[in-house]
Amino acid sequence: MTKRIEVGSTIGILGGGQLGRLLALAAGKMGYRTHIYCPERECPASLVSTHFTCAEYGDPVALNRFSSQVDVATFEFENVPADTVLRLTKKNLVRPSWKALEIAQDRAKEKAFFADIGAATAPWQAINSLRQLTHALKSIHTPAILKTARLGYDGKGQILINTPEDAETAWNALTLNQTVGDLPAPFAILEGFVKFTREISIIAARDVRGDIQCFEPAENIHKNHVLHTTTVPARVSSTTSKTAIAIAERAAESIDLIGIIAVEMFVTPHGGILVNEMAPRPHNSGHWTLDACQTDQFTQLIRAICGLPLAEPLRHSNAVMTNLIGEDIYDIARFYEDPKSHLYLYGKTDARAGRKMGHVTKLSKRTN
Ligand code: AMP
Repeated sequence: MTKRIEVGSTIGILGGGQLGRLLALAAGKMGYRTHIYCPERECPASLVSTHFTCAEYGDPVALNRFSSQVDVATFEFENVPADTVLRLTKKNLVRPSWKALEIAQDRAKEKAFFADIGAATAPWQAINSLRQLTHALKSIHTPAILKTARLGYDGKGQILINTPEDAETAWNALTLNQTVGDLPAPFAILEGFVKFTREISIIAARDVRGDIQCFEPAENIHKNHVLHTTTVPARVSSTTSKTAIAIAERAAESIDLIGIIAVEMFVTPHGGILVNEMAPRPHNSGHWTLDACQTDQFTQLIRAICGLPLAEPLRHSNAVMTNLIGEDIYDIARFYEDPKSHLYLYGKTDARAGRKMGHVTKLSKRTN
């Protein structure tokens, strides 16, 4: 599929969360229709999209109907089941490609991928048994983090191991209610704990002609493993910034990306970079681009998958994006009084603890 997706066409989006919602809004602004596919009825994206299919990802009838009603399809989270994506891939509808998703769905594949493109990561080993874990701890040492290879997000499926004696408890906790032998190997990875000075992320877009445009590094602070704030400009040297951008560009090139990827990285005390993970979709740490840049991550993604040229992602303001989690949503009145605060609410009614309900981006004058 190299043809341009004409204005008025329908963009299919697998997943109905806030990323799908913001993507649908960007698509609408550009004259496209959207069709959300999501198993949850009251999902944030369906409230702002043209069409909505509420069905399980494995439902072949619903998927066939969806695929006959969209001109291109993308996804807003990386844990879409492989079969679903492959079914749409056969019809040549999916951007970015399955390859990007396949790597991002598996931490072991992801780490190997970054090694292949010459980007360092924390030391790691694939783990499929307590014996392997005990053995791996002898070379990786503690502290270390045991992570499920698949389906982890926002710190879920991760256990910090402080001493080798904690190995058994950690393994039992991670494998609770799971039959490791029935799941694709490896079940987990053990990763050395990185004493980073900052966390940054780069969002890279690549279009059908192979042109790549990266947003500058953004600095991320997590609380309880969930993104709390993203700040631009990031406090990194221009050398670190160039290295980070070069890694994201190489990753985009190597997977022949048509779309966007977010690459999360640790900056070490000497300004070195270790890649943490990547996501081939819009990313929470890219929300600042909606208000502080000439273009934003969602618009870039729509441009890329529709065969349009990318925009130059220049930043015009400094910005701090803060996530509104759970009950934070009850304290938003102050944002309405501040013209520099740009508030986004995701249309979720149940303010459960830990749930991302919205975000606010506070702009200030650009300093560098
Ligand atoms: P992840 O799900 O891998 O993105 O991890 C969520 C957060 O946990 C990261 O953004 C870091 O703040 C922290 N984290 C993950 N892996 C490591 C590591 N190897 N060393 C130190 N902190 C980590």
